[in-house]
Amino acid sequence: MARGEHRVARAALMQRIAECLAEAGNAEAGLARAVPLLSRFLKADLGVFLVRKNAGWMIAAHGADEAFCRTLPRAPRIAARTGPVALSAVHGGTPSGGGNGAGPPDAVVIPVRVGRRRLGYGVFRTGADNLPSRETLLLLDVVGAHVAAFCETVSRNERAKTDLDHLACSNRDLAWLLRFGEALHALNDPDTMFKWLCRELGETAPVLGVELLSLSEGPFVRIGTDLATRVSAKRDGIAIVKEWSEALASRYRILVPEGEFRLKRFPCLPVAEHGHPCGNTPGVRRVETPLNHAGRILGVLAAYLPAGPGEDRRIDRLIESAAGQVGLFLHKHADGEKIRFLANHDALTGLLNHWSFQNIFEREFERHRRHDRNLSLLFVDIDHFKRINDEYGHQAGDRVLREIARILTANLRKIDYVFRYGGDEFVVLMTETDSQRASMLAHRIRGAVKREAGGIAPSRLPVSISIGIADCGDLTQAEREELLFRADVALYQAKNGGRDRIRVADRPLDCALRVN
Ligand code: GH3
Ligand code: MG
Repeated sequence: MARGEHRVARAALMQRIAECLAEAGNAEAGLARAVPLLSRFLKADLGVFLVRKNAGWMIAAHGADEAFCRTLPRAPRIAARTGPVALSAVHGGTPSGGGNGAGPPDAVVIPVRVGRRRLGYGVFRTGADNLPSRETLLLLDVVGAHVAAFCETVSRNERAKTDLDHLACSNRDLAWLLRFGEALHALNDPDTMFKWLCRELGETAPVLGVELLSLSEGPFVRIGTDLATRVSAKRDGIAIVKEWSEALASRYRILVPEGEFRLKRFPCLPVAEHGHPCGNTPGVRRVETPLNHAGRILGVLAAYLPAGPGEDRRIDRLIESAAGQVGLFLHKHADGEKIRFLANHDALTGLLNHWSFQNIFEREFERHRRHDRNLSLLFVDIDHFKRINDEYGHQAGDRVLREIARILTANLRKIDYVFRYGGDEFVVLMTETDSQRASMLAHRIRGAVKREAGGIAPSRLPVSISIGIADCGDLTQAEREELLFRADVALYQAKNGGRDRIRVADRPLDCALRVN
């Protein structure tokens, strides 16, 4: 071919290669189109491009089978070469560098590189007699750079698309988390929250089971999974939970409070129907996240997920973020419980307070009226309590109040209520009890106080109480206040009678007392 014709053919080649790469949808397709073009141009009977992609290699071949391609070296040093080299691989052996192989060079190697970075190379077997001229080699260098730039651009685009996909995924997760957070904090109690948490996690991720250890309400564990393989009975469940909490305590350096563990099992998640996830089940992995709030660990959330190559950091992160919200929920719930407790209880004695008395008294009186059941009300007042305060100080007085509260609680039945009415005065409501039976219980209480409470004051000052009792008898709803009044009057009579005694209200009431 004349020199001018060569120049035209080289320009046409560049043009065709540029076009076919531009038209290709991906790097593999671009290379697959470029190889036969170059093979034809070089009159090569065999041509291969090997270009790095992610952790592997892309291979595009023309006139060479897979077995041959596998014999080609993946070593980067070969891609550094320019110009013709002896490539005995082409004859079925291992390729070697130029000049070191057997026989004269019979192939041309085209480096594929961006600047000094080697991405791969092309091999075209031209035969020893048909090796390209110096000008053509220079052109092939440019072709190699062009192919490299093309592969770079395509892989950058692919990375950008992957990033976009991740971003879309993150947006979806973010939207889920926002919705999750909003709905979570509208819930009231940890049981409802847990049931809902299991459902929500199950819908957004292939979660097989969920466990929640919460320390903010004492050692309490909720299991929302089918742990049938591990938990055969409730007792076993508690043993497992204790084991778990001990492991967690050392792993997260948390103090698991002493006390009876409480365990609640919830129906397993629908996705867990075919499996029994547990810590040691093959194919199941456990993602564990501590529940923090303000630097304090309030518990641990554990989720069971399918193990394997598809392990998804995205889901783990989602569970971690959900755990953050659950931690906040538990903290708020524990705070709310504290506030609710203080609203209904007396801070000194821990008994129900005057506010609770009003509510419970109304409810119990209504029940008495509707179901024709009796109800007794006892006014309990410490005798000469002021003296205890004056002589031994208010702290000693407080101890007496606490001790009386303890004795009252210890000597009553589960169905009774005891309130701190105010000052040194307590009220006991005895449901389904008439004043006769209430009087027997009152004697028991009075005896216990005389026996036990006297040791509280520093000089073993004898402490006694007076009690006034009244029952509903024939009172109607409108006469609720009447019951209070009758018991109060009975207490007044007990005090007047010399204290340390019990008085049951007369029925009907003494009119003279009512006026006072
Ligand atoms: P009586 O036998 O007639 O009931 O005499 P008393 O001294 O018990 O009666 P009084 O109602 O005059 O005294 C009640 C005292 O209880 C007055 C008040 O200072 C004291 N008190 C009220 N609340 C508390 C408290 O929370 N702690 C202490 N230490 N004292 C209290
Ligand atoms: Mg008193």
